[in-house]
Amino acid sequence: MRIGIGYDVHRLVTGRKLVLGGVVIPFEKGLLGHSDADVLVHAVCDALLGAAGLGDIGQHFPDSDPRFKDISSMKLLAETHAMVRQNGFTTGNIDTTIFAEAPKIGPYRKLMQEKLAATVEVKPGCINIKATTTEGLGIIGKGEGIGAMSVVLLKMS
Ligand SMILES: [Zn+2]
Repeated sequence: MRIGIGYDVHRLVTGRKLVLGGVVIPFEKGLLGHSDADVLVHAVCDALLGAAGLGDIGQHFPDSDPRFKDISSMKLLAETHAMVRQNGFTTGNIDTTIFAEAPKIGPYRKLMQEKLAATVEVKPGCINIKATTTEGLGIIGKGEGIGAMSVVLLKMS
């Protein structure tokens, strides 16, 4: 078995869609990035790559590459999953935490779980999504950004 960790933060700005875990969430701001800036999916990709010993998301999907401009991060996750499989691993479980002052994640949690599970080919019960605020402290607490963390367990297949 192999374990990996992923961490990411993106800035919240007006005029962008908010996409978290592959789900578009109605909100007055969205995350800024070269792709759709799905911070949760980026953290999961990094955890998968870390567990497989394959480096990080920036090495595989550089933000200087026009191919990844505005791309759905779920496509990056699908590609990451394919790389992990090619290297002889299957996903055991994925745990995540979203750090956000707003919006409320609860209503979208199940849909995110299902989308992530389908993409990495596990049962929805193998994906866990938690959300917390930072009690008004720091850039996340002031609503300037959203962060996410993920831990992944891979099994040799
Ligand atoms: Zn990112």
